[in-house]
Amino acid sequence: MSDSTIIPPGETIGILGGGQLGRMIALAAAQLGYRCHIYAPEHDAIGADVSAAFTQGRFDDTAALAAFAATCAVVTYEFENVAAEPLAAIEAHAPLRPPARALQVAQDRASEKLFVEQLGGRPAPWAAVDTRAELHAAMARIGVPGVLKTRRDGYDGKGQWRIMTPASADVIDLDDAALIYEGFVTFFGEFSVIVARGTDGAMVFWDSAHNEHNEGILGKSTVPAPADIAAQVPEARALAAKVADALDYVGVLTLEFFATADGPVFNEMAPRVHNSGHWTIEGALTSQFENHVRAICGLPLGATTLAARGAVMDNLIGDAAHDWAKILSDPANHLHLYGKAAARPGRKMGHVTRLVL
Ligand code: AMP
Repeated sequence: MSDSTIIPPGETIGILGGGQLGRMIALAAAQLGYRCHIYAPEHDAIGADVSAAFTQGRFDDTAALAAFAATCAVVTYEFENVAAEPLAAIEAHAPLRPPARALQVAQDRASEKLFVEQLGGRPAPWAAVDTRAELHAAMARIGVPGVLKTRRDGYDGKGQWRIMTPASADVIDLDDAALIYEGFVTFFGEFSVIVARGTDGAMVFWDSAHNEHNEGILGKSTVPAPADIAAQVPEARALAAKVADALDYVGVLTLEFFATADGPVFNEMAPRVHNSGHWTIEGALTSQFENHVRAICGLPLGATTLAARGAVMDNLIGDAAHDWAKILSDPANHLHLYGKAAARPGRKMGHVTRLVL
């Protein structure tokens, strides 16, 4: 069992990572009377703009991590590409929630697929690939088309190559990166299961959003999802619950799925709040950010019921955020801007949510 220490309002929550997820966790924490301390390598962490304290430091600097943790009653993370080993420096001072094991499993695409398979989940056929010979063997066994991905550090479609013909794989520079080859999944939709688990093992789920991606980046999340996707949610939730229990998880956990003619196919998991749950800020009685804070502080979880008939969340990617005035001209729009300095192509700058009343 994980330790179930209650962290009362007024205490300081440490957050590893300084992006928009940390920023929205900090905003929810402030509402409950907590202070947040952000730890991130960049000097202009947007999570720090809304937090009480900020330490700029590398994720492998154990002395800086220990000093940071000494100021916190609990430490969480908004970013899974943090090496697990230096986290021992944190755990010597404050509980880490979710546990380091969740981070270890989820930060490697091969280990997360193995873990989920052991619990009865079904990913696309896959093979770990380190050399060109292994890639050819994987393509021969699994078939083409497929997707080659870096095992670590990939996000928003970065570190991914679609392989449509065996010859097209030859031009990819394999470098020294550890890779994974997956069979291409024929799906009619994508959805995510977002669950919050408390220190007592209690779990709550939000409605599963129908997620639409463009070039590997989430563009839109819609709840409720169409009926053919919703029909696959119970099986997917059962798997998410097994994963959360097996990890003795505390906090918000996300699993992404492809909805296929053969049922839900597991894609990946994130040991954190997730972009496909941003609609919960206005669209659910308790948001994913608030329940993450409640869970890691050992508080009772809030109701996840829809606050309207439905909700639609559109990401504002790159220049789309420059349309803020037009977006605000419609009084039904809930605009969220993350305060990032430069709107580079493919960069998530904000999102806008509309409730279906
Ligand atoms: P990921 O980073 O693994 O979530 O991939 C980003 C997006 O690429 C997914 O949400 C899908 O739209 C697409 N994708 C990834 N892997 C596959 C696959 N094996 N088959 C089909 N589409 C995929």
